[in-house]
Parts: sequence; C-alpha cells; structure tokens
Amino acid sequence: MSIASTITTFQNELQPIGVQLIAVSKTKSNEEILEAYQAGQRVFGENQVQELVGKYEELPKDIQWHLVGHLQTNKVKYIAPFVTLIHSVDSFKVLKEIDKQAEKAGRKIDCLLQIYIADEETKYGLDHAELIELLRSPEFQSLKHVRIRGLMGIATNTENQKMIKEEFYELKMLFDGIKTTFFPQEHHFDTLSMGMSSDYKIAIEQGSNMVRIGSQIFGKRSIKHFKATE
Ligand SMILES: *Cc1c(COP(=O)(O)O)cnc(C)c1O
Repeated sequence: MSIASTITTFQNELQPIGVQLIAVSKTKSNEEILEAYQAGQRVFGENQVQELVGKYEELPKDIQWHLVGHLQTNKVKYIAPFVTLIHSVDSFKVLKEIDKQAEKAGRKIDCLLQIYIADEETKYGLDHAELIELLRSPEFQSLKHVRIRGLMGIATNTENQKMIKEEFYELKMLFDGIKTTFFPQEHHFDTLSMGMSSDYKIAIEQGSNMVRIGSQIFGKRSIKHFKATE
C-alpha cells in the first residue's frame, strides 16, 4: 500500500473512535512526508531535535510537529518556538527548561509526562513515585508556560501480547487516577499517548486516544533510530 492510502485507511479507522494519529516520520524524507500530507495528514512526530527543526523549516507551515523521543535540556530552545506537543517529558529538569524557553518564545507548550511502563532497561520515563512527587511539588504548580495534557508510555518490545496489554492497562489506570487526583477540573488533561505500529490495536483497546505510527505508514526504517543516546 502507498503512504497516501495507508494514511487514509488509518484515518478512516481512527477518526470515528476519537483516536488521534501521529505519523512518526523520523528518518523519512520530505517527499515521503509530503505524500502523507497530501493525503490529509497534518500531525507528524519526530524523535530527534535536529531532524525535527530541519523538517519544520522545509515543510508546510500548517504541519503540527510533535516530539516523541527523549529531549535533552540543552536542546529545548530549538523547538520551543514551534513544537505542538512534547510527548517525552521524563524529568522535572527538562519540564522547567521547557517552561523557561516557552516563556522566552511567548508561548505555552503542551506536554505529556512520559511514564516508564516497559520491562526494559533502556527506555526513558518517570516511575509512579517520581510522577506523584513532580505533580505535588509547589515548584511544578508555579510553572506558567507549560500545560500538562496527559501521559505517554512505550510498552515492552515483545511478542507477548498479554504483557503489552497489562502495561497499557496499568498506564490507563494511572492516567485515570492522576486525572481525578491532580486535574479534576482541567478539561485539557485529556491525552493518553500509547501504541505504535506493532501494538496500537492493543493500546486502543486499553484506552489510548493518541497513537504514534511510523513503520506501518512509511515502511521499515533502515537505521535503528529509536534510542537516542545522551
Ligand atoms: C519510532 C517511534 C514510534 C513509531 O514506531 P513504529 O514502530 O515505527 O510505529 C513511536 N513512538 C516513539 C517514541 C518512537 O520513537
């Protein structure tokens, strides 16, 4: 299937059930992204700051760019002027820097807190205790230029469907609990980003409303690009 027809198929499947599609275009060319764009896709995700900035500059300005990969504090300034949603806030330090750079850019930046749900050493994210500590701290409440929209998680890379299902279930429970406890009046705390090409169906069954799909739209990536190193 072509990129365009895959986008259409995904949109037909996801729009009626209220799930937002993020087309993860890391390592893919402007031409490939434009093919998805022509099919109506406007939201794209990248996992590296440099690549994200380059594509932002070269591609149509009505594209909404999401950062889905690990963000180093010293790189926040490059994306603060334009990024639509940062999925990968995994420390208080980086959140404070986003707040600072958002203020400089005269914006408020939407963020998801990335939660560590996988049974793997290599993945980033806050654990439950760190999440609660962050949300409880007075310093967090004083940040005026970030808006927490919800949570994001990456399941273990495994064939074990039951395990993936349990990880997503746990994240949904956490999301519901955090919403009730910390954001009861905030309608904008509404986003649960979970699910990629291999596990998005399980994620949606477990309550995801934002999926990050790369290889199923654009085909396999030639270089292993996933784990940005710091
Ligand atoms: C690459 C990436 C995706 C998309 O992965 P696919 O398996 O190609 O769909 C989703 N989320 C994050 C954080 C990624 O880095």
